[in-house]
Amino acid sequence: MTIFQKIIDGEIPADKVYEDDDVLAFRDINAQAPTHVLVIPKRPITSIAHATDEDQALIGKVMLAAAQVARDAGLEADGYRLVTNVGRDGGQSVFHLHIHVLGGRRLGWPPG
Ligand code: 5GP
Repeated sequence: MTIFQKIIDGEIPADKVYEDDDVLAFRDINAQAPTHVLVIPKRPITSIAHATDEDQALIGKVMLAAAQVARDAGLEADGYRLVTNVGRDGGQSVFHLHIHVLGGRRLGWPPG
């Protein structure tokens, strides 16, 4: 069981910014930008590399929720970044698919 499953189940607290039946969004505990929110499907999918055709609609919901989180945070005018890390080289540390919503400062490119 991942730490995000415990957040979904209410076993550990999180600073939630959006929730519906399928999707949860909460602030990253170790924010890398003035706005840093994680958007996750409630159904556990290990990473985008593990998603299947059955997950198509759910992942669409997650991405649209990420855009709405950014809109609600006032990031749309100046822009923001959505990131999903995959596996070791991608830097993934929690193995429950999540989209990072990062904004509120000028982000570097390429990433480190
Ligand atoms: P990853 O490295 O897998 O792309 O991203 C995992 C993210 O989850 C990290 O940015 C990390 O700070 C965040 N994180 C890990 N544990 C917790 C937690 O218990 N609560 C919250 N809100 N974020 C967490």
